[in-house]
Amino acid sequence: LCCCASTMVQATEYAVYKDPKRPLGARIKDLMERMTIEEKIGQMVQIERANATAEIVNKFYIGSVLSGGGSVPAPQATPRQWIDTVNKIQEGALSTRLGIPIIYGIDAVHGHNNVYNATIFPHNVGLGVTRQVHEKIGIATAHEVRATGIPYAFAPCIAVCRDPRWGRCYESYSEDPKIVRAMTEIISGLQGDLPDKSWLGRPYVGGKDKVAACAKHYVGDGGTVKGINENNTIVSQHELFSIHMPAYYNSIIRGVSTIMASYSSLNGVKMHANQELLTGFLKNRLNFRGFIISDWQGIDRITSPPHANYTYSIQASILAGIDMVMIPYDYPEFIDGLTNLVNKNVIPVSRIDDAVKRILRVKFTMGLFEKPLADDSQADFLGAQEHRDLAREAVRKSLVLLKNGKSAYAGPILPLPSKVLRILVAGTHADNLGYQCGGWTIEWQGLSGNNLTSGTTILKAIKDTVDPSTQVVFNENPDPAFINSNDFAYAIIVVGEQPYAETFGDNLNLTLPAPGPDTIKNVCSHIKCVVVVVSGRPLVIEPYLESMDALVAAWLPGTEGQGVADVLFGDYGFTGKLARTWFKRVDQLPMNVGDAHYDPLFPFGFGLTTQPINQPSPK
Ligand code: BGC
Repeated sequence: LCCCASTMVQATEYAVYKDPKRPLGARIKDLMERMTIEEKIGQMVQIERANATAEIVNKFYIGSVLSGGGSVPAPQATPRQWIDTVNKIQEGALSTRLGIPIIYGIDAVHGHNNVYNATIFPHNVGLGVTRQVHEKIGIATAHEVRATGIPYAFAPCIAVCRDPRWGRCYESYSEDPKIVRAMTEIISGLQGDLPDKSWLGRPYVGGKDKVAACAKHYVGDGGTVKGINENNTIVSQHELFSIHMPAYYNSIIRGVSTIMASYSSLNGVKMHANQELLTGFLKNRLNFRGFIISDWQGIDRITSPPHANYTYSIQASILAGIDMVMIPYDYPEFIDGLTNLVNKNVIPVSRIDDAVKRILRVKFTMGLFEKPLADDSQADFLGAQEHRDLAREAVRKSLVLLKNGKSAYAGPILPLPSKVLRILVAGTHADNLGYQCGGWTIEWQGLSGNNLTSGTTILKAIKDTVDPSTQVVFNENPDPAFINSNDFAYAIIVVGEQPYAETFGDNLNLTLPAPGPDTIKNVCSHIKCVVVVVSGRPLVIEPYLESMDALVAAWLPGTEGQGVADVLFGDYGFTGKLARTWFKRVDQLPMNVGDAHYDPLFPFGFGLTTQPINQPSPK
C-alpha cells in the first residue's frame, strides 16, 4: 500500500483539485497529474458491496461500489443503516493517498426498489402509458435514493422493447421510440435541470438531493431476436438510428452522467466491444462527456463461455470505450490484466486517462469531493406521503381500459357502483403486494406476499374505497359452488404474471398463468366480471375476452394499489392509451405499430375512457 508520508496529500495541504472554487477542468487536471497508474486503474473498477470492505477499497483504490439487485445491508434496513454501510466504505476511499471518493450506485428502477419502506412506482411499461408525471417521479426517486446516502442510480432503462417475449419488456416505456425519447425527462428529475445551455451534453447533478443517472442498455437491448435476453439484435442502420438510438441523444442533451453498455450484440458484435458505437458514436459524434459503465460482468461475456479469455475481454472492451467496469469477474485479475496491457502499450495511457477523467468529471460535478459522507438529513424522504400520492397518481394514469361492457347493447360496467350488497374479489394477484410490484423489488427477482415492504394491495384498496355497507368477499380461486351460493353484484378478478427479472422473464408463449384462466372462466360465467391483468407486458388474452364484462391492463403498479381502486370506482376516469401493441397470438411477434402485418387485438394507442362519477375520496 503506497502511502509514504512524502506522497500522501495531507488533509490540510492546499491542492487545486480540492478547491471547489477552481474550475472543473483545472481540478481534474491537477488530480490526474498526481495519480499513479494503479490509482487510475482503480477508479475504473466497480465492485459489489458484499466484497467492499473499507480495506479492499483502500488497497485497490476502488472507484465505485454497487448494491446489485436485492443486495441490502439487512432485509428491513433503515435509512440510517444504509447510510452507515455506504459511509463505512467511503471512509476506506477517503483514507487513500489522494482521498478520491467512491461513487456508490444502485438499481433504483421504479423508485428506490431495493429498500424497505420506499415508494415503489409502477414499472416503466405502465409509466409509458401515462406519457407524463415522469420528471416528478425522477425528483421523488432521487430524494428517496439520497435518503439512504446513495448518489447514483442505474436508471432509466431506455430500451425500446420491440418484442414482449423479452424478460425485461416491463423495464421499457414503449415499443415507440417517440414515447421512450419523451420519457427521458426522468433524467432531469433525477439529476436536476441543466443550469444553462453551456452544460449541454455534459454530465450534470445539481444538488444534494439529486443523483447521477444512467441511461441503459446501450444500444438495441430491446430489439433482440425473439426477445431473448442478451441476444443479438439484427437491425438496419436506419432502424438503429430511428428506433433504438434517439433516446440516447435526448439523454445526453439532458446531461445524463453515465451510460451502461448492453450485454446484447448488434448485428453480431458484442456491444461491450463495439468501438464504433461506444467511442465513435457516443463519445465522438454525440459528444457524451460522462462515463460509460459496463454491465455486471459484461466484459467477461464478450466471449462464450464468459471469462474464457480475460485478457482479450479487457483489451477489447477498454479499447472499445468502456470507462468503468461493473463487477469484473475477479477484480484483482482485472486490475492485473489491465495494468499489464498498459505496461505493454497495448492499451495506451491516453485511453486510461480518458476513462478516469470522465469518472472524475462526474464525481466532481456531483460535489462528492466536497461532501463524500452522507448524513441522515434527508431520511424522511423515504416513502414520504407526497411520493406515495405521486405514485398513486401514476398508477391511475397508467391503467388502460381495454373493454367496458359485454356488448354494445349491454352498456358499460365501469365505473363500478361502490354501494351494493356484496361483491366478490378473486384472483391470485388481488392480495399480493409482491406480485403487484414485480421484479426488481426488494429482491432482484421480486417476491410474493404482503410482508416484503409497506404498501396497499388492490384488495385492501377496494375494501377502503367501497361504501362501508358493501360486503367485500375475497376468494383467490372460487369454485362454481361457492360462486353460486352467494349473491354477488359483480366480481373483480385480478390475475397475471408472477415476478421475474432479466433472462428469467424470457417467455416464448406469454400465456396467462394458471389458475388465471380457470378463475376467469368460473367467475365470469356466473357473475358480471371486471378482469384486471397485472403483468409486465401484454399476454394472450383473446380466448377469454368474450366472457369478460370489462378488461383493465394494470401493468406492474407497485406499492400504491389504491390507484387501481380510485379508477375502478370512478373517483377518477380511465385515461390511459396503450404504449404497446396488444397482440392476439405469439406467432404474430414481433409486431409493432407500423408493421405491414399489423393485426393486433388492441392497437397501439388504444384505450377506452370513463368519466369520474364520485367526489375524489379524501384518502
Ligand atoms: C442488469 C443491469 C443492472 C445491473 C446491476 C445487470 O444484471 O443488466 O440493468 O443495472 O445488473 O444490478
